[in-house]
Amino acid sequence: MSEPDTGPPPPAIKRCRVCGCTDTTPCPGGCSWVLDDLCSNQRCLFQAQVAEMEKHADARVPIEFDVLTAIQCVAALQLALRHPRIPQTAGTTSRIIVDAIGNRLRQISPLFGILIDMGNDAKFDSPADESAILRPDGRRARG
Ligand SMILES: [Zn+2]
Ligand SMILES: [Zn+2]
Repeated sequence: MSEPDTGPPPPAIKRCRVCGCTDTTPCPGGCSWVLDDLCSNQRCLFQAQVAEMEKHADARVPIEFDVLTAIQCVAALQLALRHPRIPQTAGTTSRIIVDAIGNRLRQISPLFGILIDMGNDAKFDSPADESAILRPDGRRARG
């Protein structure tokens, strides 16, 4: 008994999952493939991101840092939190991350917790061009 001769499958046409554009009918102004089924159109990227975030809303993102990286991450977020025009959502999220990493660092060493608390308070800021060790009372102890 022989297999029916169905021939090779027709070549699949790449098509954007959001807008349906193809290689032969790209978005106005042109687009490229970001994924096999997603084009680079900003609206497509945004809609696809929203869909992925809804799909994976309950997924966890476990990460581990060494202590130095964790402290640098907290410091960078604390700096971002000082920006007068940080969007509210980004500010809230940054604060959550600072507090979460800070609590883990505090468990490793109470000193890390003290330093992170100081980093949350602008009165402990040191000028970028000045090397100084700050004491908890905010006064500089020249090293
Ligand atoms: Zn698209
Ligand atoms: Zn497109």
